[in-house]
Amino acid sequence: RNIEVFNLQQLFEEILSFLYPNIVDVNADIQCSINPASEVTGYRDEIKQVLINILSNALDALQRKAGHKQITIDVVQAEDTTQISISNNGGRIPEDLLPVIFEPFFTTKELGTGIGLYVCKEIIERHAGTLTCESSDENTTFTMEFSPGLGRT
Ligand code: ADP
Ligand code: MG
Repeated sequence: RNIEVFNLQQLFEEILSFLYPNIVDVNADIQCSINPASEVTGYRDEIKQVLINILSNALDALQRKAGHKQITIDVVQAEDTTQISISNNGGRIPEDLLPVIFEPFFTTKELGTGIGLYVCKEIIERHAGTLTCESSDENTTFTMEFSPGLGRT
């Protein structure tokens, strides 16, 4: 387990093939826009777990939706920051729940653990990054921002 500089396009390829059965099951359309040069410094297995958690939540949110189900992945590499956003059109998280979804054991799912987003935020913050959520009537978006080179503290 070492800190490394890793490529996000390659990581997303692995993650999407891992989640492929779930994606087919939900019948979600995945739109990717990933800068091929995008990199993060840190523990690759931890960041992989974060992205799988957030994508799994997005698939859960789309499971029972009628009509076109869309997940959009955007990775933007700027000079001093890497931004990853994962969005789905599964509808709104109520305003009063937005601050609570990152709390341990908060879940609205019958078989949920409520541990996913808590762990995600903890991992991202230990990588000197931020994890935020925005939600509108149509879309819910989770955004991570990292400072490349700064790495995990
Ligand atoms: P779990 O998935 O076990 O419920 P999480 O910590 O991953 O636990 O998520 C907590 C809660 O946040 C979920 O139960 C759900 O209510 C809400 N949530 C997370 N991601 C989304 C999303 N993409 N769309 C709608 N609600 C979400
Ligand atoms: Mg979850």
